[in-house]
Amino acid sequence: MSETENRPSNFIRQIINADLDSGKHTGVHTRFPPEPNGYLHIGHAKSICLNFGIAQDYQGQCNLRFDDTNPEKEDIDYVNSIQEDVKWLGFEWSGDVRYSSNYFDQLYGYAVELIEKGLAYVDFLNGEQMREYRGTLTAPGKNSPYRDTSVEENLALFEKMKNGEFKEGECSLRAKIDMTSSFMCMRDPVIYRVKFVHHHQTGDKWCIYPMYDFTHCISDALENITHSLCTLEFQDNRRLYDWVIDNISIATQPRQYEFSRLNLEYTVMSKRKLNDLVEEKLVNGWDDPRMPTIAGFRRRGYTPASIREFCQRIGVTKMDNTVEMGVLEACIREDLNENAPRAMAVLDPVRVVIENFKEDSVETLTVKNHPNDESMGTRAVPFTREVLIEAEDFREEANKKYKRLVLGKEVRLRGAYVIKAERVEKDADGNITTIYCSYDPDTLGKNPADGRKVKGVIHWVSASESLDAEVRLYDRLFTVPNPASEEDFHSVLNPESLTVIKGAKVEPYLATSEAEKAFQFERQGYFCLDSKDGSADNLVFNRTVGLRDTWAKISG
Ligand code: ATP
Ligand code: MG
Repeated sequence: MSETENRPSNFIRQIINADLDSGKHTGVHTRFPPEPNGYLHIGHAKSICLNFGIAQDYQGQCNLRFDDTNPEKEDIDYVNSIQEDVKWLGFEWSGDVRYSSNYFDQLYGYAVELIEKGLAYVDFLNGEQMREYRGTLTAPGKNSPYRDTSVEENLALFEKMKNGEFKEGECSLRAKIDMTSSFMCMRDPVIYRVKFVHHHQTGDKWCIYPMYDFTHCISDALENITHSLCTLEFQDNRRLYDWVIDNISIATQPRQYEFSRLNLEYTVMSKRKLNDLVEEKLVNGWDDPRMPTIAGFRRRGYTPASIREFCQRIGVTKMDNTVEMGVLEACIREDLNENAPRAMAVLDPVRVVIENFKEDSVETLTVKNHPNDESMGTRAVPFTREVLIEAEDFREEANKKYKRLVLGKEVRLRGAYVIKAERVEKDADGNITTIYCSYDPDTLGKNPADGRKVKGVIHWVSASESLDAEVRLYDRLFTVPNPASEEDFHSVLNPESLTVIKGAKVEPYLATSEAEKAFQFERQGYFCLDSKDGSADNLVFNRTVGLRDTWAKISG
């Protein structure tokens, strides 16, 4: 079944179905409206999958619109990364990329219309006074002394604002609504402010910029958006959204619907906090594989399909909740279990000498790339007299539960022969430096002829033919499930979120790895070549995820 056929319904789809059935709309047009002030995170992926997914399923359209009304926090780098991330997730927007700033002329015109209707005024209260006049949740606000300025005077003042004749903070344009409303956002909200800031799209054309609440609804209407989907914190603002649309001459009437944000355990999901981590160099950039950003997950080896699957599993509701990291990890693990080729890497090598194997000889073994998928083919794996195995895969003594190599006992080397540990050599401190073994040449691809049972299988690489690699193991970025609720989220950063292993050894086939394309390192987990620091000459692998959900056990 395709992903689309699988997509479960939700309250927003029910609203859309009703609107189509009743003939209120004949098609669906959604939009994804990021502010270009940071990289997209997994929370945005939820909104992307919802908006673009609806457009796909209803043969509708979804726009990508940059909500760019705060030029001082925005950057063209973010504009570019956001487009790349949306494409990487597998979605295509309808037509050109849009910008709220495309509509600055029209927005200005609608502001003038509100002034002409006596529904907006230029206010000279300063920030502190404005707060004082606004009142509180329990006390009504009071009218600004500038509220009753004449239409003519307001028009002239607004024009002066636009022409740069007022300083920043000296005045603003406010909608004239109701200073006693129980919705704070309706107490004469500011809709334009003065800012002498260069804009990444409009340059120095404007020194006044419209506010989000005024801009968003009008942009939706201008783009003929039918269903404007946003997160619950905008619930109250829906009054203002409708007020603006109702009071300007614009034909279409988009509707806003709110759903709950995605929160994920052991991470933070606000661009401001993520930006702090980047600025303070607590992580290595927005695409650090520990970051909950799309770019971070991508660099870590997550696939677009796994993130789309995750968004599908968590669903869309109005209920606030926090999703366990295990849900996301299950999605990538399932994907890679099926689709990632297998390979062998030894992270903590110990030397094994197979004494009855020819010296200076390399035997080429043919090993399947996937145990259950013939179509993934085979690869050549060199076998030599000296191999490396994981130090923890050998014990001098062990009970029956230990299915690895034990002194005097046998184990199978994956894809190769059965070996038997004969004796060990130790250094002055008692650490094992070499395990001397013998091998049974009659066990390649078959069990020992005399019926000996060899249960354990361990991974290995040839000592002489393997390649050096650095392996980066990632853990939770924070030590508590809800770092955002801490007074200072810095205090709960996990100091062990990154472990770098320098002396790993990998089979030669891994020199052909492509960045971001994960392998299953047998018995270790899923790993991919790092897109920034890794290359054929400098193998650096990121652990995408382990083979099993060890986290659930620890936390629960
Ligand atoms: P942040 O609080 O992380 O800075 P934001 O809401 O300011 O996020 P925008 O760029 O304005 O970020 O978001 C673009 C769209 O993505 C909006 O429609 C917003 O509602 C949605 N979105 C942002 N964060 C989440 C989240 N955690 N879960 C679901 N949707 C989200
Ligand atoms: Mg926002």
